[in-house]
Amino acid sequence: MKKRIVLYKRLSDALLARLEAQVDVTWVDMTTPDGLARLRDALPGAQGLLGASLRLDGPLLDAAPDLKVISSVSVGIDNYDVPDLTRRGVMLTNTPDVLTETTADTGFALILATARRVVELAGWVRDGQWNKSLGPSHFGTDVHGKTLGIVGMGRIGEALARRGAAGFGMRVLYHSSRPKPDVDARYDAQYRDLDDLLAEADYVCLTVPLNASTEGLIGARELALMKPNAILVNIARGRVVDEAALVEALQARRIRGAGLDVFVQEPLSVDSPLLGLDNVVATPHIGSATHETREAMARCAVDNLLEALAGRRPKNWVNAW
Ligand code: NAP
Repeated sequence: MKKRIVLYKRLSDALLARLEAQVDVTWVDMTTPDGLARLRDALPGAQGLLGASLRLDGPLLDAAPDLKVISSVSVGIDNYDVPDLTRRGVMLTNTPDVLTETTADTGFALILATARRVVELAGWVRDGQWNKSLGPSHFGTDVHGKTLGIVGMGRIGEALARRGAAGFGMRVLYHSSRPKPDVDARYDAQYRDLDDLLAEADYVCLTVPLNASTEGLIGARELALMKPNAILVNIARGRVVDEAALVEALQARRIRGAGLDVFVQEPLSVDSPLLGLDNVVATPHIGSATHETREAMARCAVDNLLEALAGRRPKNWVNAW
């Protein structure tokens, strides 16, 4: 008899067909108002879950006593209580590597858009205001040749370092759990304490996972250490930054600007003070959101799920025992 899984993220026809050839699939559309209730109803008897962006708390997991594996279509695992999953004997898998380059592209898009005021000035053209030549009040600031500070020198951090060093002739500084001599050698990069990095970098780019050690990592004190002309880019998770402190720093122009792909509350409310600031570029959590990469992530998640249900060790097993 086929094992049953609950799918709560839409897959391409090809991937769905591959999945359905091996397991019984119960599809739950989480975008409908009764999505959560339907998910809860589908959980009893399910041995696998495949999806993303859902906080699977204790009561939901209690409704899934046969669960063997959660295959998350994401690299970030901050939605899950990993020790609790391990206690329950539930494997958790994620999708690292396949989204690294695309997410680093997003980081650079935010660096460039914020530094060169791309969104603000494109809006200005669209509003019919380009009826005279530009003056200094429309100028941005350079990216090439500046100092890039990366907080979290992992997969995405390194992809940013490569773009900064090779593509934009930037000096690369980084802060991470530990210095990485191989990274230093590859990009002529230098390790710094967080405070020193904040004081030296022109672009501070956050690529740490959200966990107890990184929640609120960048608060009022850290923002005060940044140069007045510096730009903060967050492609990690919203809660890595104290958003109220960031709003204050941006309003007071204590830093030049911010490029933000992630927020404490997502979707970001239209009432967010961040959206009233012309020195903010806000994108709707699009780090990995290209056709190619989302398909690669889904393929990776399907592989992980099927491997786990076949009793083998999936490639991206987070809580391996
Ligand atoms: P990764 O390879 O694990 O890199 C994270 C790095 O952060 C690691 O080098 C880690 O150090 C370091 N780190 C962990 N805690 C730290 C701390 N307290 N202080 C300083 N450094 C710390 O992960 P990744 O694949 O690059 O992804 C990073 C994060 O980006 C994900 O967890 C996810 O939340 C976010 N992300 C966002 C999007 C988006 O759509 N915006 C897309 C993809 C990923 P060690 O090397 O010592 O472990």
